[in-house]
Amino acid sequence: MSSIAETKPVEFDLPSSSAPASSCSTSLAWAKVPEQPSAAERADLKKEIKALLKARDAVLVAHYYVDAELQDLAEETGGCVSDSLEMARFGRESTHKNLVVAGVRFMGETSKILNPEKRVFMPDLEATCSLDLGCPAEEFAAFCDQHPDRTVVVYANTSAAVKARADWMVTSSIALDIVGHLHARGEKILWAPDRHLGQYIQRQTGADMILWQGSCLVHDEFKYEELKLLKEKHPGAMVLVHPESPAEVVAMADVVGSTTQLIKATQTSGVHEFIVATDNGILHKMRQAAPGKVLIEAPTAGNSATCKSCAHCPWMAMNGLRNLRDVLRDGFDSGVGEVLVDADLGRQAYRCIDRMLDFAKTHGISGPRGQNSVSDAHRGIGPA
Ligand code: SF4
Repeated sequence: MSSIAETKPVEFDLPSSSAPASSCSTSLAWAKVPEQPSAAERADLKKEIKALLKARDAVLVAHYYVDAELQDLAEETGGCVSDSLEMARFGRESTHKNLVVAGVRFMGETSKILNPEKRVFMPDLEATCSLDLGCPAEEFAAFCDQHPDRTVVVYANTSAAVKARADWMVTSSIALDIVGHLHARGEKILWAPDRHLGQYIQRQTGADMILWQGSCLVHDEFKYEELKLLKEKHPGAMVLVHPESPAEVVAMADVVGSTTQLIKATQTSGVHEFIVATDNGILHKMRQAAPGKVLIEAPTAGNSATCKSCAHCPWMAMNGLRNLRDVLRDGFDSGVGEVLVDADLGRQAYRCIDRMLDFAKTHGISGPRGQNSVSDAHRGIGPA
């Protein structure tokens, strides 16, 4: 029988806004978002970054939620734009000596853990994630100690120390497959940290799971009532929802899936209009994947709206052209922006990540879920 054990609510500290902010007032409140350079400066920066990537034998690995120009740069220079599963795999398979990860801290750490021999850099090491912040390693270890009979499955959005304690790491692309597999083997699950994704997996697989009570500050803000009203205005629209969203929002979805799966839905569905409930950074890739289709952002505003409600991750927004150039130009000598993971901790954390990648390979999930290969995954929506 499945169950949910409530842990105490998790609070997290927010980064201070000590640097100049962009025009987005939410960014000002939540993170150090770099000022957008002028068009002329952006063109110069892009040239410089391309030259530096070559000179440093580095490849740019970017997430769908970062700035559109960084996504384009990654593709134009032979790098990768994808979800966290594919980012991990791409970094591991890359023949470049060095990796630059445009995303958030746990993505850089995962790359370093998988590639201890490579130097891994990020434009801003303070770019983090509310799920990672909301799952401190010591408290998590105590939670695990209380449930020694359970298989520990953690989401990618966790620190190296939390992964070191886990049996499996999963991303949203592969979480259902792995938990379904463990459930079929009769294993009981301890899940962390996203409670919405955990509940979704529990409903889908019927697994016996206890859940850490973390949440994503972006997806937590999608609003059911407002989404219902929007859907009434656009009855023909397909609703695409990331499973880090609240259960009532997920219940309204036509497609629930990882970022790659949602992009794929805009490409393959015959529907013309989509309501999209995930970080709005994804719209750039959706527009490329499905030109001419109408993309409507799911509502985050409403009676219970907060200053967090702009549907864009403030930490993803910390990745900019200037700090990317800076880390490529200076970081290799100064060490600023370099991701470092303690070697022993990295070896322990490696096991749960490698287990996921191995599972993906042996179960034919060689590209993001539902696709047959990495190249299929990116056909038309990523690097050629
Ligand atoms: S969008 Fe949410 S889950 Fe993704 S990095 Fe930002 S806070 Fe974390």
